[in-house]
Amino acid sequence: KRQQREAYSDVVTLPKTGAVIGAGVMGGGIAWLMSSKGLSVRLKDIQWQSIELGYQKVVEYFNQLKKRGKVKQGEIDAAINRIGGSLDYSGFNRVDMAIEAVVEVIDVKQKVLQEAEAALPETSLLCTNTSALSVTEMASVLKRPEQFCGIHFFNPVNRMPLVEVIKGQQTNSQTIAQAISVCHLWGKVPVVVKDSPGFLVNRILLPYLNEAAYLLEEGADIEKVDQVMTDFGMPMGPFQLADQVGIDVGYKVAKILEASFGERMQVAPVLEHLYAKLKLLGKKSGRGFYRYQ
Ligand code: NAD
Repeated sequence: KRQQREAYSDVVTLPKTGAVIGAGVMGGGIAWLMSSKGLSVRLKDIQWQSIELGYQKVVEYFNQLKKRGKVKQGEIDAAINRIGGSLDYSGFNRVDMAIEAVVEVIDVKQKVLQEAEAALPETSLLCTNTSALSVTEMASVLKRPEQFCGIHFFNPVNRMPLVEVIKGQQTNSQTIAQAISVCHLWGKVPVVVKDSPGFLVNRILLPYLNEAAYLLEEGADIEKVDQVMTDFGMPMGPFQLADQVGIDVGYKVAKILEASFGERMQVAPVLEHLYAKLKLLGKKSGRGFYRYQ
C-alpha cells in the first residue's frame, strides 16, 4: 500500500482533507471511508438531523469493523473526531477533494456544486456521487468543469468494492487520474464509464428491479421472488435490494432511465405508488417492500 501511495503521489496530488455534501445513506458512508483512510472531513447538509444520521452511519460501519477485530476503539474515536458536521461551507477553503451526495435532482445538484466550487480552493477536485444524472450537464454550471467528475460509490460504501468514475465532456485526464488513484488507495475498484444515463451498473440493475415490481403487480409473492433470485446466486433478491438502495433513489434513477430509453424502461406503477403516495422508502424509513421495525 505504501509503495502504491508513493507511486501515485508522483503523478497526482492525493487528498488529505475531504468534504461530503449531503449526509444521507451515501454521504455518511463516504464520510466513513474518508475518515477511515485518515482524511479530515467536512460533512455538510441542510439539516442537523441528517448530519446526525450521517454520523450514525459512520459509527455503524466502524462498529462492524470493531466486531471483526479490525479496528480499536481509540482509532474509531480519532476517526470520528476528524469529521466535522456543518450546515454551511465553513472549512471548505482547506478541502482537497469534495464529493456531492445530495438528492438525485439535477437542479439541486447544480446549485450545490456551484456553491461548493465557490467555497473550495482553486486546485481542489470536485466530484458527484450521482447514480444516473449527466455529469456533463452538472459541469455546465461550473467555472472549473475540467476539475469535476463523477465518482459513483455503491451502497453500502463499506462493503461494495466497485466505483464508477465518470468523465464529463470537459473533465481533463488529470482529474480522472486523480479519481482513479484515490479509489485504489481507498481499497476500491474503479472503472471508467461513459457519461450516459445510469452509467453501466444502474443501466443494468434498474430494469431488473423494475421488472420485479411488474412481477409484483402480476401477483407474484415478494419473499418468493427474493428467495428464487437468492437461490439463483444473487447476494439478495430484487425487493430486498430496492429497500436497501432506497425506493426514492430507485424511483428517481428509474425515471431518469425512462426519460432516455422510453418504452424499454417504463417505470412500474407500484414503484411510483410506494414512493409518491405511501412514502415508503425502504430500510431507511423503516418500511418498503418489507417492514424493518
Ligand atoms: P439520502 O436521501 O439518504 O441523502 C440525501 C441527503 O442530501 C439528505 O441528508 C438531505 O438532507 C441532503 N440534502 C438535500 N438537499 C441538500 C442541499 N441542498 N445541500 C446539502 N444537503 C442536501 O440519499 P442517498 O441514498 O444518500 O443518495 C445521495 C446520492 O447518492 C444521490 O445522488 C443518489 O442517486 C446517489 N446514490 C445512491 C445510492 C443508494 O443506494 N442509495 C447508491 C449510489 C449513489
